[in-house]
Amino acid sequence: MEDWRLNGQEKYLQGATLYKIVFPQFWLKAFAERNTFYDMIADRAHRFAEQMQRGGEYLEGNKLRHFFHVHCEFCMEKVITDKECEFYCTTDMQHWVCSECFNDFKERFGWNVVQNEGESGE
Ligand SMILES: [Zn+2]
Repeated sequence: MEDWRLNGQEKYLQGATLYKIVFPQFWLKAFAERNTFYDMIADRAHRFAEQMQRGGEYLEGNKLRHFFHVHCEFCMEKVITDKECEFYCTTDMQHWVCSECFNDFKERFGWNVVQNEGESGE
């Protein structure tokens, strides 16, 4: 029987290149450097506040992280930016996979994990 978590992810995740992301460090670094990951969340936050006419108080500083709402593509686990955890994401950061699903499916999907050079700076 097929794993319940599989639902056509092959279309966008087969053979994908993934970044390994470690929180909370990844967010803290993004926040400090105002890098592309930070910009992505900030952009979303500002659009939300504008459209909904609320949430403006969360646009300040580190609270922006509350606008990051993504889930594992397989088990729907929420990606948390302020606790210690590991996730994997596509290089455009549109698709996220939790470490458990990553380990369960890495062979089937043939993922290639690379260092996130733009964000790590090490
Ligand atoms: Zn998962």
